[in-house]
Amino acid sequence: MSRRGFVIGTVGALALHACGGSREDGVARCAQCGMRVDTAPAWLAGHGEARFDGTKCLFRWAAAQGVDAGAGFGTEYYDGERVELRGAFFGVDSDVLSPMGDDLVPLRTREVAERFARDHGGRVVSFAEVDQALLALLR
Ligand SMILES: [Zn+2]
Repeated sequence: MSRRGFVIGTVGALALHACGGSREDGVARCAQCGMRVDTAPAWLAGHGEARFDGTKCLFRWAAAQGVDAGAGFGTEYYDGERVELRGAFFGVDSDVLSPMGDDLVPLRTREVAERFARDHGGRVVSFAEVDQALLALLR
């Protein structure tokens, strides 16, 4: 009985944690694609109040809104902390997939990004190299 009570309490606490993004059902959702952002915290990205389930969605949203994606943040692949996108590097064409498939994997420095490319294949691009042509290639 006490174990069941603990599990229910834990689920309730997790539900209370969901915030930000659109809230029509109390669940934070990606401002670009509408997917829940709480299912893959390792991919959380944000720009102001908006939240995203991956870096790719943030870049696409910023382009559509005409705002600077560089002011947003992603979740760094290795340390799991937020990283400002303007100064970040990104792994592309790697074996690491986000909930949205191919994505831009946020990496804090070029050195770390090159390690990522060795570990997971693909190539590395800087923030300035993320453009519409690259975004269109990501599935
Ligand atoms: Zn999304």
